[in-house]
Amino acid sequence: MKKVTKIQPKSNLPESRVKENLESIALIRSDSINDLEVLTSDFKHMSLVVESVQRNYRALLAQNQLLKDTLLGVVENCDCWQGNRCDRCVQILNILGGKNIDLKPDAAKKYKSLLTQLRKLG
Ligand SMILES: [Zn+2]
Repeated sequence: MKKVTKIQPKSNLPESRVKENLESIALIRSDSINDLEVLTSDFKHMSLVVESVQRNYRALLAQNQLLKDTLLGVVENCDCWQGNRCDRCVQILNILGGKNIDLKPDAAKKYKSLLTQLRKLG
């Protein structure tokens, strides 16, 4: 008596297709988790960099303010008086007033517009 075979090619079995599909999905999810871990690590690094830049910038601003205050104090304590300042005080006041600084007239405007764009991105 001839035996009837029920065997079909493995890939055509619904169970095999489901299993393959599930394996593919598991692989994709695992890759995604790995990508997210890498991304998280990158964000942590960037966050540390930003914090460091913030600290340095804050220190720079504080130092800048201190220098300006000191220079103003030098002018205030000088023997010359308002309206008739000595050369040194005129020079200091010009520097504090932004004169003699080689800035293009629209540099501040360009900087402000760039800052606005960057803030929109954040
Ligand atoms: Zn003076």
